[in-house]
Amino acid sequence: MKTIEDLAVAGRRVLLRADLNVPLDLSDPESPRITDDGRIRASLPTIRKLSERGARVIVMAHLGRPKGADYAERAAGGPSLRPVAARLGELLGRPVAFATDVVGPDASRVVAGLADSDVAVLENVRFEPAETSKDDAVRGEFAAQLALFGEYYVGDGFGAVHRKHASVYDVPQRLPHAAGDLVRAEVEVLSRLTSAPDRPYVVVLGGAKVSDKLGVISNLLDRADRLVIGGGMAYTFLAAQGYEVGHSLLEADRIPQVTEIIADAEQRGVELVLPVDTVAATHFAPDAEHEVVSVKDFPADREGVDIGPATRELFAEKVADARTVFWNGPMGVFEFPAFAVGTRDVAEAITRVDGFTVVGGGDSAAAVRSFGLPEDAFGHISTGGGASLEYLEGRTLPGLTALEADDPSTGPRTGGRA
Ligand code: ADP
Ligand code: MG
Repeated sequence: MKTIEDLAVAGRRVLLRADLNVPLDLSDPESPRITDDGRIRASLPTIRKLSERGARVIVMAHLGRPKGADYAERAAGGPSLRPVAARLGELLGRPVAFATDVVGPDASRVVAGLADSDVAVLENVRFEPAETSKDDAVRGEFAAQLALFGEYYVGDGFGAVHRKHASVYDVPQRLPHAAGDLVRAEVEVLSRLTSAPDRPYVVVLGGAKVSDKLGVISNLLDRADRLVIGGGMAYTFLAAQGYEVGHSLLEADRIPQVTEIIADAEQRGVELVLPVDTVAATHFAPDAEHEVVSVKDFPADREGVDIGPATRELFAEKVADARTVFWNGPMGVFEFPAFAVGTRDVAEAITRVDGFTVVGGGDSAAAVRSFGLPEDAFGHISTGGGASLEYLEGRTLPGLTALEADDPSTGPRTGGRA
């Protein structure tokens, strides 16, 4: 993969795909609030570097999952990238222009108005249904429009590299391209986890959906020494072992696969560590009544919202001797302070590990920051949830494939096409 240093960006228009998909508090729809700006901060070094080298930087990014049949419906429903562009400007310490459309007249106007070192953000690329189309021709046509804005493409949106989307996969096929510093750093860390991790290698998984994580579990069974499973996904494992899980998150259709994984782990000598107690709440609410129960007597009318105190201690013990840790997924509903204790304790236990530790996943990273834990207490906090999991699954990531490919034969274009 080429790097920014390989591109002569001074005075050129550089289309940069960044990952600015931050969590928003939309309780006041008139003024959306960014609850964790980690992904914006993680995008700063590449944006700064391009701007300092005199590039005219045009940032493409998505936010949330806009719904609607066409551009007009999606743009009306939001979420708009405007507040994100504003926050980016504050963090950069320089004005950031914002285009109220993606490839429309406002985007053309904003791009044409850029001077050297200026930065602009285009509106949410997912307002354009073509961005995520499964039809190569539809995506390609949209990508060709985007490509007209730039002379170079830089891919730095690690959190989106597992998506075969126009701004990730199709635009770099149309412009000379390079990987941004964030993407390079992420790939370097993840390749370290898949090549020769120091042992013991402990993988801690949590979060809501077991189905998202089965692929990575299967692949890691070859490599990890120990697999620690908490969060909502643990209940499908507990159910597979015959335990009652009440109204807890359960993907019953995955029980056969989970049963196979349990047997596979045993056969390969990978230690599988599951919760022994649970915080069981009457319902899903921040102030729900709750009590600690053993997984052996889970009340049928309750739902599990966090790991219990014995499990917190057990999990801390199971990471203590690790030389490598990969952690993805909160141990409970950490968004509710009463149910954040398990996630916080596991995060703290990981900070005490004497070895290489990696946190992957948007929610996990947000949890770490919400606890006020110093980011440098971890070896690396990845910006990509799905992307890092798919990398560790050993899958081909379209955004990386596109960056690895040779430049299109037309060579660098010069000026005047926006
Ligand atoms: P990441 O973004 O770090 O990859 P996931 O998206 O997989 O993590 O999972 C995060 C979500 O899992 C959080 O919103 C959290 O509330 C939820 N979660 C964790 N444990 C539970 C549980 N016991 N019940 C319901 N939701 C849970
Ligand atoms: Mg998540």
